[in-house]
Amino acid sequence: MSNVITIGTKAVYPIIFEVDYGQMKSINCYLYQHGESLTLIDAGIDLPAFREFFNQKLKEYGFTIHDIDQILLTHHHGDHIGMVNHIVKQKQVPIYAHHVAIERLHLTEAYQLRKRQFFQQLYEEYSSLELAGPRLKKMEQTYRDTEALKIDAPITAFSDGDTVCGFHVIEVPGHSPDSVLFYDRETKWLFAGDLVLYTGTTNALIDHDEQLNLLPTVMQYRQSLEKCMQLDISVIYAGHQQPFSNLSEIVEKNLQRMDFKLERIVSKVAEGHKTALHLAKAIYGDRMKREFSLIMSEIIGYVTYAEMQGMIEKKENGRQWEFLVNS
Ligand SMILES: [Zn+2]
Repeated sequence: MSNVITIGTKAVYPIIFEVDYGQMKSINCYLYQHGESLTLIDAGIDLPAFREFFNQKLKEYGFTIHDIDQILLTHHHGDHIGMVNHIVKQKQVPIYAHHVAIERLHLTEAYQLRKRQFFQQLYEEYSSLELAGPRLKKMEQTYRDTEALKIDAPITAFSDGDTVCGFHVIEVPGHSPDSVLFYDRETKWLFAGDLVLYTGTTNALIDHDEQLNLLPTVMQYRQSLEKCMQLDISVIYAGHQQPFSNLSEIVEKNLQRMDFKLERIVSKVAEGHKTALHLAKAIYGDRMKREFSLIMSEIIGYVTYAEMQGMIEKKENGRQWEFLVNS
């Protein structure tokens, strides 16, 4: 099969499901074979069309679900975990994920309540609960659908620096707090989840720690990009789009894009757009309403980053945060 990549006793079988929405272009997962052992890295999205594609690719590659020995997850997002329940219903395989991912994958009550409390307060302080309505409603829907959506199997936690199924685990928070890279030192293959894509950038999504503190996601993302540039890589298998090799070129572009966004937010604050909501409108216009949670993630992420860099400061006005350029 032409798209199977082999080095010695190791092979990668890409499962690249093309989609026509957003800039993702495809939703990917990978079968990684080492001798007799077969590992599924990420698990796609839980949609009938993806499941059909997944089963068909397995067949094409000469495998069945019963050949899968374990599942590794790069992070907890829905387009990376979709086939997990489908697989474990047929074969109880070990599942591995970052320790921060565990409660998110199991959708524990405690986690969901904390998440809702965090976002409610965040949107009250940075924008408006009215605009946040659909996002908060979606969280309530997830809560009602917990039984159907949660990963219904035990998950083994790993941490930065661990070796899991032969891979070196590297924490790369920013896109999500539980994002990791799986690095095969021998072949120099890197399974990168959503840290880097061949074209465009993924987002640093707003998130919180266990004490409900806002995480410095943009700064974390930047540090994670710099960290991955230190690795000696032959091929990067990302969560979306095609595999690639020119990592430093792509990371440089990402870093430049982040610098641009930082400068843009500071200049918009300097122009007098004081609140996150005004900044979002000034930069994104009407798109702001349609892509509310993504855009607010970015605006809040970058004002937080600019504040940490000492470029702007935030002041409380009523229940809302306002921003001023540091003189
Ligand atoms: Zn993701």
